[in-house]
Amino acid sequence: MKGAFKKTIKGIEFLLDYGIIPIVRTVIWKDNFYGIKELANYLDKLGINFQRIEPLLLAGNAIRNKDILIGQEEYGIIYKTVSALKLSKMKVLFGEGFPQLYSTSKNNVPEYRDHYCLVGVENLHIENNGEMYPCTGFIDPKFILGNILNDDLLNIWNYSDVLQEFRDLTVDKIEGCSTCKLRNYCGGGCRAIAYSYTKNIKSPFPLCIYREEE
Ligand code: SF4
Repeated sequence: MKGAFKKTIKGIEFLLDYGIIPIVRTVIWKDNFYGIKELANYLDKLGINFQRIEPLLLAGNAIRNKDILIGQEEYGIIYKTVSALKLSKMKVLFGEGFPQLYSTSKNNVPEYRDHYCLVGVENLHIENNGEMYPCTGFIDPKFILGNILNDDLLNIWNYSDVLQEFRDLTVDKIEGCSTCKLRNYCGGGCRAIAYSYTKNIKSPFPLCIYREEE
């Protein structure tokens, strides 16, 4: 959308003026692929603590425009480019868990984890019409949890079978990740991105740059 970048930066500056430091989520596709280094430097100077970089979900208009998606090789280039930047304080997180853990853990030492996805642990998404879904990447009738205007949120949080399925989805149950030597430092990557490519929440993160190491 024309003007979206300027409006987003204005919104970020507004939050920073009030002492709120947002996490900036950057979705990468062919058009902004080459600008990622400049963007990371810019956000770092602006005072952002965390930038999350992830590929475009294969959903909505992206299904009709697959040529704008980046591939595993480009995702790897982004990871290497951003990792080499000398940022003053901002950490960059990626859509798969291993680099993210390295970036966020104390002293850059990876911590043990058997989950990447925070659905049902910290996350639940509510649409402006009240419909509840596991997260922004799972707005699909198949995953609807209920409507906050009619249903009890606490009851859904505690007893939803859909949320429980996500809670039970440890990395050992993700196809292609269960034998990866990095699995307990990664957790298996973003389930919404994996689902958007395969329609299977147990499929591997499609752009994983470590898959060759399995
Ligand atoms: S194969 Fe799976 S567990 Fe291993 S690094 Fe990639 S996403 Fe993580």
